[in-house]
Amino acid sequence: MIPTHLLSDFCATAILVVDPTTETIVAANPACESLLGYRQSQLIGMPISTIEVGLQDVFFWEDVRSAGAQEISQVESEYRHQNGHFVYVNKTVRLVKQDAQTLCVISAHDISASKRLEDESARTSALLAATLESTIDGILVTNLDGHIINYNHRMTTMWPWRHEGEQTFHHQLADFKDLLEDRASFERWVTALFHDPYIDEQKTFTLRDGKVFEVSSCPLQYRDAPIGRLFCIHDISALKASEAALREARDQAQQANKAKSDFLAHMSHELRTPLNAILGFAQVIEADGQGDNQILGGYIHKAGQHLLDLINEVLDLASIEAGKLALRLESVDVSACIHDCVELTQVLAKEKGIALHLSPPTIPCFIWADARRLKQMLLNLISNAIKYNRADGSVSISTQRVPNGSWRIKVEDTGLGIAEADQQRLFTAFNRVGNSQTSVEGTGIGLAFTKKLAQMMQGTVGMSSELAVGSCFWIELPAAVAPDLSPNIVPIAQDESSRTVLYIEDDLLSQKLMQNILAKQRPNYHFFTAQTGQEGIALAMQIAPDLILLDQQLPDATGSMIFEQLQQHERTRHTPCIALSGNTLPEQINDALRLGFSAYLSKPLQISQALLTIDQIISQKRDAIYSKV
Ligand code: ADP
Repeated sequence: MIPTHLLSDFCATAILVVDPTTETIVAANPACESLLGYRQSQLIGMPISTIEVGLQDVFFWEDVRSAGAQEISQVESEYRHQNGHFVYVNKTVRLVKQDAQTLCVISAHDISASKRLEDESARTSALLAATLESTIDGILVTNLDGHIINYNHRMTTMWPWRHEGEQTFHHQLADFKDLLEDRASFERWVTALFHDPYIDEQKTFTLRDGKVFEVSSCPLQYRDAPIGRLFCIHDISALKASEAALREARDQAQQANKAKSDFLAHMSHELRTPLNAILGFAQVIEADGQGDNQILGGYIHKAGQHLLDLINEVLDLASIEAGKLALRLESVDVSACIHDCVELTQVLAKEKGIALHLSPPTIPCFIWADARRLKQMLLNLISNAIKYNRADGSVSISTQRVPNGSWRIKVEDTGLGIAEADQQRLFTAFNRVGNSQTSVEGTGIGLAFTKKLAQMMQGTVGMSSELAVGSCFWIELPAAVAPDLSPNIVPIAQDESSRTVLYIEDDLLSQKLMQNILAKQRPNYHFFTAQTGQEGIALAMQIAPDLILLDQQLPDATGSMIFEQLQQHERTRHTPCIALSGNTLPEQINDALRLGFSAYLSKPLQISQALLTIDQIISQKRDAIYSKV
């Protein structure tokens, strides 16, 4: 009798019972049909060797036979199915005694699905291992207790790695901590990480040998629950070194830039202070004098003004090169600007017998520019066109819209023109070409400055010229819309009552000039002077002036420092102060105004402008007092 429980219909394991003497199948259960590809009825009586068509001895019949029918259990092998594909099976052979007969019971279980999973998981592990090893970072994975689950080879080279003994994170960490500069903070961090399995953080640690490691740690999760922790160590020493080198280079560049700025500020102050006296007194003599004196005053004024222009040009160019020239870009009316320039150059043109022709634009023409600097650029082109013209020549100024949407302002002359070889050298500083070097007054700065200004305003410059015919120089600047021109000029009320003005200035000539101007133009102003900052503060406390004029470079302190000290005394806190300086760099002016100065006057002083500012600020103070009363 065949043990029926072995042949259960419900069993997923295929079971064959073989008679070892006849080597034929005497029983088979239904599961054999799908595993072996034969119907159950076909199998009964079939020689077992018929099934052994596979690569391997699938049912070990050979083994069973040669071993004298021995039992074999749980062996895996591959079997080729009737339909040709391969099936993994797990087999067991048992010998069962039945009525003095020994039968072989062969059970086989299809394990192809789990084999596939096994293969898949082996492939995934190989991929993971290759990925882990391919990174330049050290990677380590622990469970929640800190037992190391996985790590890559790089990790073992980044810190002292112990291969013997316990493989826990804390154990491996012991030597690593000794390498760190701040061992305590690292310890605290690691404790916090193992305390809270959800922390995802990154920290940078410096080693005693100067290396810098960025350590990041994140939770290792399975089905949304943390099951461990992943550490990744990235060596950022090279990055940190290059950052430090960049910082050093930037600091050096800033220092050099500051040195340039200081030099510009110093030169500006040193050159303008004596000119302040020269131009100021020349204006006084010109205004007061009679006959020869007035003429001589005029000469000094003119020559001084020329010197000031040269100094301004050189300092402007230096400022641009030092990146210190700030522009105030706004919508500028080109026709008005050209009109002003023509007016200013009319005298020069008349002197040289040159006719100026102006072709105003037919449509409104506004460009995006710094109005003052645009005038400077145009004046340079127009005065060149006059200077380098022939007798009875002419200069035409016109505007034209160009395809890229900009406006081109052209200055054409009927001069001698510029040879092609010389044209290449134009627009670079100190390059004067042709005969002009000796015959016409100039510095060779104007065109270079014009080009740099145009570039700063997102524009371009250009020229064309023909010998004996003339030249055309042009500036192209982006078009803009017309500005809002609501009136904002408030008329200044005339105040005849007496006022006290204190001027803190170490340059005696500048003091005298201001005294002279005020004595003549504003006799109702009482004028006091002090030569140092401290003297000035003491005098201000005593006389409580209505206005303080404060030079920015005093022997004992800067004007800003004295201003701050004046702010600390109740008696002088509300006294308006005007800064006076030969330094015209925009950032210095802005700094002073930001500090609280009411205005900033540049030396050499434009007398009318200076008086206007003084009057305006004194009257504002009076209004403020009246509004308080
Ligand atoms: P400066 O006029 O002070 O010499 P610029 O930089 O304005 O300096 O001009 C540089 C040179 O270009 C001049 O010295 C002159 O040789 C040449 N140049 C400029 N404009 C003209 C012009 N319209 N016609 C002929 N030559 C010119």
